[in-house]
Amino acid sequence: MSKPTVARAYDALLGGKDNFEPDRELAAGVEEINPGITVLAKENREFLSRAVEYAANELGIGQFLDLGSGLPTVENTHQVAQRNSPDNRVVYVDIDPMVLAHARALLVENDTTTVITADLRDVDRVLNDPETRRLLDTDEPVCLMLVSLLHCIPDDDDPFGLVRRYLEPFPSGSAVVYSHLCSNDAEHARVFTERVHSSGTPWGRVRSPEECEAAVAGMELVSPSVDGTAPARLVDCDTWRRPGASPVDIPDKRIW
Ligand code: SAM
Repeated sequence: MSKPTVARAYDALLGGKDNFEPDRELAAGVEEINPGITVLAKENREFLSRAVEYAANELGIGQFLDLGSGLPTVENTHQVAQRNSPDNRVVYVDIDPMVLAHARALLVENDTTTVITADLRDVDRVLNDPETRRLLDTDEPVCLMLVSLLHCIPDDDDPFGLVRRYLEPFPSGSAVVYSHLCSNDAEHARVFTERVHSSGTPWGRVRSPEECEAAVAGMELVSPSVDGTAPARLVDCDTWRRPGASPVDIPDKRIW
């Protein structure tokens, strides 16, 4: 508890209470470097909620593998996915054991949702975990969730190669929900990344929007507007299929 963790610092950004002083210091530090990151964290959660609803209702996907799921907060994946279909199944995976401890309390009596403590870089371990095998049927489409996650994975661990490995056993009709901290300003990205590394928590880096596209290269992107007319592309997550919003490209300078 003398060092921050990403899960707890993110909880602090979201205004949660499952965090300690070093986590709050890191959250305040990145907010100082990039004013607005606190708002972005909340927007990211709203994006997650809209995207899960889209996958469940529009694409008809009934199984979710939520990697780097974070500490439970409002509108967690299983709550959104199971709102209309209580049979929808969710496997949460996080490296931080506190996620399991807190999620257990929330998931009592929900046998369609589970939590695994694992390092997602060990793809075989996650996919072959008895809980994953119990809940995910790889004959049916799966929604792989990589929400505000891959910036935690260093280049040396091949974050985008990991995505391919996770998708390998999933059939066509599967989907990916994806957001990533990115900036068009390399110096700003470097300063932000340094701040996180200096806290002693293992992390990857902020990447450019072009680099971030590697995660979904070769995949069919969904139009980011509710009416489906906007060209398919990666956009500011707050504007992805938000009713009344026009999809906006990644802004300059800030981390988005
Ligand atoms: N996906 C959630 C969301 O968007 O609200 C939480 C995002 S939070 C910024 C990133 C999460 O990824 C943290 O909970 C952290 O513990 C987890 N994480 C980071 N590296 C991981 C790894 N190698 N394996 C599993 N989880 C990891």
